Amino acid sequence: MKERDHLIKPILGKRYPMAASAKGIYIYDQDGKKYIDGSSGAVTVSIGHGVQEVINETLAQAEKISFSYRSQFTNEPAEKLAKKLSQLAPGDLNWSFFVNSGSEATETAMKIAIQYWQEKGKLKKDRIISRWSSYHGITMGALSMSGHVLRRQRFSSLLADYPSVSAPYTYRRPEHVTEEEWGFLCAQELETEIRRIGAERVAAFIAEPIIGAAGGAITPPANYYQKIKEICERYDVLFIADEVMTGIGRTGKMFAIEHWNVTPDLITLGKGMSSGYTPMAATLVSDKVMEPILKGSKTIMGGHTYSANPQSAAVALKVIEYVEKHQLVEKAEEQGNYLMSKLKALSESFELIGDIRGKGLLIGMEFVANREKKNPYPPELDVTNRVIEHAFDKGLLVYPASGAINGMGDAIIISPPLVITKGELDRLVDILEAAISEVQCELRLEGKADPTVQL
Ligand code: PMP
Repeated sequence: MKERDHLIKPILGKRYPMAASAKGIYIYDQDGKKYIDGSSGAVTVSIGHGVQEVINETLAQAEKISFSYRSQFTNEPAEKLAKKLSQLAPGDLNWSFFVNSGSEATETAMKIAIQYWQEKGKLKKDRIISRWSSYHGITMGALSMSGHVLRRQRFSSLLADYPSVSAPYTYRRPEHVTEEEWGFLCAQELETEIRRIGAERVAAFIAEPIIGAAGGAITPPANYYQKIKEICERYDVLFIADEVMTGIGRTGKMFAIEHWNVTPDLITLGKGMSSGYTPMAATLVSDKVMEPILKGSKTIMGGHTYSANPQSAAVALKVIEYVEKHQLVEKAEEQGNYLMSKLKALSESFELIGDIRGKGLLIGMEFVANREKKNPYPPELDVTNRVIEHAFDKGLLVYPASGAINGMGDAIIISPPLVITKGELDRLVDILEAAISEVQCELRLEGKADPTVQL
């Protein structure tokens, strides 16, 4: 009998290799082919695969208790994890609400922000401003606040009409505008938008400190978030930092927003928080935001069956301890600087590479048809996927960003586990170089290379 599919995969009808095992920075498929996990599986597996201490903890916690429901019990791992996060987080972000995915963490942040203003009697303050290039999750509320064109397309009529402002996309800033001026202008757009809607309607502004899936590690100028925070304070608007991709060390700081010396009112975490060993995500909430809730309704209208379950909490706590014990935040910075310098050198020899950006081990590479004019390739040429496929064939995984469909350049993210060594980074860059070289040749052969470029 002919085998049929039962599992709905990302592209139906496409054949996917089976991920069979993994160790450190490597994944092996069912035929034993080895891949460098240069994306940490959607920027998730920060401590690497198969860490024995985490595996032991999973078993040890399961032997004690793997599930209890949060409306009847608290549990030790969840209490300890919340305490640990309050010690690590900047400022007065002393509270945690646990969920299972980044999307849920966004939904929770959104609800808490709106509730905060309700508790203070400001019932009309329920709009959340985000940025055109952004991704905050796949659920309807999170998608309403995301500018990810591809993911919104089918459901746009159902999404809430939340306002958006420009992202501080330094590479594509207007000519003759300095980075600093651009940071200032983009932040100012937030002020204009708040004034247009009326501050009495705006609950919060949400931003990824470094934009991930919707742009490819777009990194704002040094003055941007200071200015954003000032505007938020001036107009009584909460600032939510979406650190689902950047949090827990990825960018060379425990929280990426610390690069800008700013403390948000809420932070969302996911991905690297449990390094993929278990579904776990969190919304961190400041004392300031909790105060009226503690005095008022004393409950948050959120939560899922698996929220704050002991099994996931124990694993996340172990992962964070591992990050600290092995100084992976510092390693992310050191290896990130090394990778950045190698990729910048590589970009010199490829017309296809327009920009390299990012912090720590979250590095974006943008592809263009013409380096001088920064013209992107049309989305139908699918340059991002070509690079990803060629790299995949050669045993390297990199992460796609949705640049081209968002009207920007094609882009990938290179974000290996934080435990990667310099030797392994050299190998990663060699494979990437070979893949890009093949794509560049392919585009020339198809007559698709930009005719204005001297080849
Ligand atoms: N926020 C950001 C910044 C993300 O990168 C993602 C996932 N790519 C999410 C939220 C949603 O997380 P999840 O896929 O776990 O729902």
